[in-house]
Amino acid sequence: MAAKMFRVEDGKVIIMGTECSQCQHRWFPPVSFGCERCGAYGDDLHARDLSSTGQIYAFTTVPERDGGMYTLAQVVLDDGPAIRAIISEPGPEKLAIGDRVEGVSDGAEQVTFRKTSP
Ligand SMILES: [Zn+2]
Repeated sequence: MAAKMFRVEDGKVIIMGTECSQCQHRWFPPVSFGCERCGAYGDDLHARDLSSTGQIYAFTTVPERDGGMYTLAQVVLDDGPAIRAIISEPGPEKLAIGDRVEGVSDGAEQVTFRKTSP
């Protein structure tokens, strides 16, 4: 996630999404060509802060060049959109579909997600 797509407030990652004022559909990342549900565009699209809490819908491991692996997940945010996210902890052997996760920032360029449910 690029820096301009999120910010941190009181230690919480806020994802900067978009909402359609015609049908209230929300999505991320932002697009300017129109609402992906109803087609509204222009002034009907506005910035909408999204909580970074959500649930794992699916996940997989991806090999890295150095021989390591990272976990890539589809996370359905509590505020609506499904996003692709790196799960920084725990490892895949301790993850399950439906686990609760939240975004964490390294303070600069990256947001990853970590499990919050036991
Ligand atoms: Zn719409």
